[in-house]
Amino acid sequence: SLPTIYIVTPTYKRLEQIPELTRLAQTLVNVPNIHWIVADDTNTTNPQVIHLLKRIHLPYTYLLTPMPQEFKKELARPKGVANRNGGMEWIRAHATEGVLYFADDDNTYDIQIFEEMRYTRVVSMFPVGLLTEAGLSTPVLKDGRFIGWYDGWIGGRKFPVDMAGFAVSVPFLLTVPKAKMPYTAGMEETGFLSSLNITTDQIEFLADNCTQIYVWHTKTHKNNPASRNILLPEYNGTNL
Ligand code: UDP
Ligand code: MN
Repeated sequence: SLPTIYIVTPTYKRLEQIPELTRLAQTLVNVPNIHWIVADDTNTTNPQVIHLLKRIHLPYTYLLTPMPQEFKKELARPKGVANRNGGMEWIRAHATEGVLYFADDDNTYDIQIFEEMRYTRVVSMFPVGLLTEAGLSTPVLKDGRFIGWYDGWIGGRKFPVDMAGFAVSVPFLLTVPKAKMPYTAGMEETGFLSSLNITTDQIEFLADNCTQIYVWHTKTHKNNPASRNILLPEYNGTNL
């Protein structure tokens, strides 16, 4: 049978949350053998998220993974770190096979990316489209061999890659019990990949030797919650 893809999606309550999760959900229903771990940055269950998850009929797990209070004050907050570490803890406790992928709720996924990563043996990597001047973040290959990294910001990182640009084998993850993501903004990916103790020759380069883009780091315009005040009273119900 097909290896399971454990998709860990960090999310948090804002006006865009349900639209983002709806879009991602309707991408994921087109992918066989996935388990969607929706890790919500909150202390309290969001019934709207649960309602969506039940309607979608995907195998899922809903986790409450609040950002620790001490990081909320930081100027550059480590967004989604508690969520991803919480998702990994769940996988360590419940999964024995398959592959882990961190899929933020606001990115854009061509479902081909999931078939690329499904048979990851250790760690796989692939290009991520960026809507910046750099255009993408990717390992660089020449004649099928790794020669370096391309990213708009290398920043002295050992693994200068995007969160959407790698997948990890679950059996391999289980051999590295201490691996986790650091609460350091900008260093989440490289910190986590470094904690896996891998070398570049263990990395599987996918998407046609990293020549194809199947995932984009899109960002949704942040809408202003104050505009809710203009709702007519009869529409100001709890479902809106
Ligand atoms: N996120 C979160 N808590 C926050 C901010 C973000 O859980 O306080 C989640 C968000 O839903 C997304 C991921 O963390 O899945 C990355 O956040 P965002 O998309 O805002 O970061 P960017 O893409 O701008 O780096
Ligand atoms: Mn994002």
